[in-house]
Amino acid sequence: MPSRSMAGWRCSACGGLITSVDDGWVEWLATEGAHGDTVLKGVRLVHRTRPGGSRQSACHYDFRNEFRKNRSIVEGLPLARFVGPDGLMLLLFFLALGEMPKDDVLELAKRVQIPGYEQTRELFQEARDKGVVAPAIGERYYLQSEIEALFRWAGHKGKPVRAAQDRALKQKRAH
Ligand SMILES: [Zn+2]
Repeated sequence: MPSRSMAGWRCSACGGLITSVDDGWVEWLATEGAHGDTVLKGVRLVHRTRPGGSRQSACHYDFRNEFRKNRSIVEGLPLARFVGPDGLMLLLFFLALGEMPKDDVLELAKRVQIPGYEQTRELFQEARDKGVVAPAIGERYYLQSEIEALFRWAGHKGKPVRAAQDRALKQKRAH
């Protein structure tokens, strides 16, 4: 089991680390579809508040901008609502509702529910290319044993997983 000290999430807005569940916020944009239905998009995990502590985090969608752009309404819930069995139930509810992009909900579910997934997800491509792991279930769906192997591999290379993850992220952004 990956160690608890590895916990934390990458903020989709600033790229910094969200170090506790209470510091996380899940937000998305709601628009009206062509047939008057609700369409949700842009699901992301961000900092809940600025480290200084102002109520509205700089990492949140700017509700005025989003409304001006395409009449989108910013909606969100604390990250705490998505963890544990009740969080999994909420995620399943979002999937069943079908308003959010399915891939966004699935990725969010893995990031908050699967130990070690968040810390290793950016590294799997490189590890797979180098033959370190061959995911048994499928691409982006990793077993705990595979996540552990990835932690060992990153550690063996003498690079903390977080630093290696930073590198992977930078490479991804550069493309
Ligand atoms: Zn942030």
